[in-house]
Amino acid sequence: MLLREVEYVRPSSVEEAVSLLAGHEGARPLAGGQTLLNVMKARAASPEVLVDLADLHDLRTIGFSADGLLEIGSMVTYAQLIASSEVEVARPILAEVAATIGDVQVRNRGTVGGNVCVADPTNHIPPLLVALGATFTIRGSQGERTVSAEDFFLGVYVTAVGEGELLTKVSVPPSSGAGDGFSGLTIGKHGTYIANAAATVSDDGARIALGCVAATPVRATAMEERVANGEFSEGAVRAAAEGLGGVLDPPSDVHGSADFRRHVAEVSAIRAVLQAVSRRKGPSA
Ligand SMILES: Cc1cc2nc3c(=O)[nH]c(=O)nc-3n(C[C@H](O)[C@H](O)[C@H](O)COP(=O)(O)OP(=O)(O)OC[C@H]3O[C@@H](n4cnc5c(N)ncnc54)[C@H](O)[C@@H]3O)c2cc1C
Repeated sequence: MLLREVEYVRPSSVEEAVSLLAGHEGARPLAGGQTLLNVMKARAASPEVLVDLADLHDLRTIGFSADGLLEIGSMVTYAQLIASSEVEVARPILAEVAATIGDVQVRNRGTVGGNVCVADPTNHIPPLLVALGATFTIRGSQGERTVSAEDFFLGVYVTAVGEGELLTKVSVPPSSGAGDGFSGLTIGKHGTYIANAAATVSDDGARIALGCVAATPVRATAMEERVANGEFSEGAVRAAAEGLGGVLDPPSDVHGSADFRRHVAEVSAIRAVLQAVSRRKGPSA
């Protein structure tokens, strides 16, 4: 289907983009267009103005902050993540997961910012960034603010980025010896997840986030505590996951019942934690 008529602007600086977004009711940022253009074609969204972020080169960089955080600009594509030496050094799980998103075209065009801002509960990146303890920098006409991953995802297609605001970067702590894991069951080889789990495990504790079981990623806090207090054998990790599915209230749909999603979430959490444990570099690894 053809797009409805829409005004198109292509700012050359972040300041100009924010001022265009704040100055036009119904303006919407355009990143890789892999979701937005499809929903516009389907008439599920009809922005008045598309603010194309393509020329904002400041948002396309990957680097380190002065205090060692891995900083990923919101316009960084999955292909960039996969090829990045900084990601390889600091948090290679980001490249591993990005390599399983969609197809080559989606990975060449789709961006980290678009993936998290669309806040689709089945997207790969949100639970991963929650498990990694990432923070998100949002720029508006009043200035800049930073929110945690838990506070960023507010609902299906809803995030902490307000009208007239722009996500500029995502900051991820370096692994510092922690191991990371990601597991899930997809519909087809590189398809949408039925349920997934991301985990990071270090001698200081564990963070486990589940995807596709609620509107936003869900922290498996009881399992985190049991993993952190226990040993890391397969039996101990399986025991730590006991009861996890019972506290979840996932949707039922054509791809799987709620019960099936609970089961997949539990198995995914066990696999993600075991993968993270096997990659941990610590005194008791
Ligand atoms: C065939 C196909 C298969 C796919 N498979 C997967 C998959 O397996 N896993 C997966 O995770 N995703 C998948 N996707 C979705 C893909 O990852 C998209 O790239 C992503 O959801 C949106 O990123 P984008 O850069 O294309 O954003 P766009 O489509 O341009 O934008 C998406 C939304 O985010 C907003 N936005 C974008 N950037 C910003 C910003 N910096 N600040 C504020 N708001 C912003 C836009 O206004 C829009 O509302 C698939 C897409 C397609 C077409």
